[in-house]
This record gives sequence, structure tokens and C-alpha cells, in this order.
Amino acid sequence: FVHWPFSVSQRKRINWVQLAGHKGNFKAADEGTILKKFSENEMQCFEKLRNDALLPFVPGYHGVVEKDGESFLHMTDLLANFDLPNVMDCKMGVRTYLEEELVRARERPKPREDLYNKMVEVDSEGPTPHEHSQRGVTKPRYMQWRESMSSTNTLGFRIEGIKKSDGTCRTDFKKTRSKRDVIQVFKDFVGGNVNIVKSYLSKLTEIQQALKTSDFFKRHEVIGSSLLFIHDHTGNAQVWIIDFGKTTALPEGQTLSHDIPWQEGNREDGYLWGLENLIHTLESVSSA
Ligand code: ATP
Ligand code: MG
Ligand code: MG
Repeated sequence: FVHWPFSVSQRKRINWVQLAGHKGNFKAADEGTILKKFSENEMQCFEKLRNDALLPFVPGYHGVVEKDGESFLHMTDLLANFDLPNVMDCKMGVRTYLEEELVRARERPKPREDLYNKMVEVDSEGPTPHEHSQRGVTKPRYMQWRESMSSTNTLGFRIEGIKKSDGTCRTDFKKTRSKRDVIQVFKDFVGGNVNIVKSYLSKLTEIQQALKTSDFFKRHEVIGSSLLFIHDHTGNAQVWIIDFGKTTALPEGQTLSHDIPWQEGNREDGYLWGLENLIHTLESVSSA
């Protein structure tokens, strides 16, 4: 990284990194903020989070803005307070698709060739004989397959991507499943720095406590949301809850426990179970 001749704010903008989602979904905005492509669902979550115990752990939300004829959610750039940050996106939960997506795919299956190709790229044995013959797989089927290849089903979270301060970026964790492999990736991410691990652990414990008191969390099926880990060479280490694109309110009066197994119909997401496993896995990093 060559810093000169960039100003501090330019340097921060250059540091911006997106570890998931379509590249076109984000735009740079005023200093220290970013724009994410509008979704009604995510906006409603941010609105409800204004008065919730989780507020300290989600990106600051500054409303809806229009730019170049498109709508965006305006939020705080979580990287802005770091100097050459290391960033990791962990997708939480035992399931990454909504129950309603499953029902729709069953009623009106739409086999997709792009998803078939992505599956074959990772594992030529992935598709069933039927899927091979039609050269297509449905979206929930693709997502269930991704869950079984990664640690989503077995640990309740998976690593989506990592960018390190040296500029290297990896999103090829589709087959990172065993606890041993995950520990290795975490170890590499923190560069063996035990103090960073300790800071992350205390942050995760705070989040765990907040989730247990959060009204929002009780009343939502939290699918496809991530914990974003960020640390830098100054020792600053933080964790935020991001991505509410698929976080869905339950019918009035209904709540979830977030730590019992999912069975179709119960809408459980395994979020707290995954967080518990994530904490234990990170604990093994500092002792291994
Ligand atoms: P997907 O649903 O495929 O995960 P998405 O379009 O919903 O993608 P997000 O998951 O919200 O997008 O964000 C994608 C990436 O952008 C994150 O992994 C993270 O690297 C970065 N990112 C998102 N929000 C912020 C933020 N407020 N500050 C800094 N980085 C962010
Ligand atoms: Mg995401
Ligand atoms: Mg999303």
C-alpha cells in the first residue's frame, strides 16, 4: 500500500471493501457513510432498530436517499474509524433462505442454469441426476447445498469473505466446514494476535447479551444477516450486525428462541446457537 499522495479521507475511501452481495448494490457517499440499494424490508428493520437494545451494534442509519434515479439506504461506513482495516463477514444461522422461498420453489420450481454451473464448479457430483439432465437447480436447492458444504448446518455460521490489511481478499470459503478449518481461517485473519481475539470475544459476549434482551430479535426470523468483524494494527477491534435484507417480522404475538433446531414451519434460524459456536470456535483460536 502506498499512502502518499492520498489524503486521509481518500485513503479511507480506497479502503472500502465489499465482501458479499452484488457490486452494484453499494455506492460511496458523504465522508464516513455509504449507500446500500434500497429494500423495503431492510428499511423497516432499521426503523424498528432505532428503539432497540441492538442499536449500538448496527450501522448508524440515516434514512432513504435518492441518487441517479435510484433509492438507497444511507448508513454509516463501519470501516471509517479504522486505519488499514482487516475485515471478515460471517453469515449467521443454520439456514440462509426464507421458508416462503422454499414453499414457492416447491409449488413453482424454477431451475436455474447459472446456479447449476456454480454448483458444478465447486463439486461436479453436487447436482442430482435429474438436475444434471435439466442442467438447472432451484435457488433454495442451491442454497441448501451451499449450507451443507460450508459450516452453516454444522456450526450455525459460515465465513463469507475476508479482506486483510495487506490488500489480500478471499471469498473462496464455500467448502470451509470443519471446526478445525474455521479455526485456521480465524487464526490467519487475526495474524495470531491473542489480544485481538480477546477483544472480539468480549464484543461477541456483549452482542449475545443484547440479543437476549432485544425485542426486535425475539420477533424476527433473522436470515442471511452477518456479523462484520473489523480490526486494525492499533488494536481496535469491533463487531457489528449487518444485512437485514431477509430479516422478517413474525406474525403479531409470535416469537422465536433462535437456539432450537429448525423444522419447516417453526421458522427458527439457529442464530443464538451459531453465535455460541462462533464464540467457542474463537476461544479455541486463543488457546490453540
Ligand atoms: P448479501 O445478501 O449477498 O450478503 P447484500 O447486498 O445484502 O449482500 P451486505 O451483506 O449488507 O450486502 O453487505 C455486503 C458487504 O458490504 C459486507 O460483507 C461488508 O463487507 C460490506 N458492508 C456492508 N455494510 C457495511 C457498512 N455499513 N460499513 C462497512 N462495510 C459494509
Ligand atoms: Mg450479506
Ligand atoms: Mg443481504
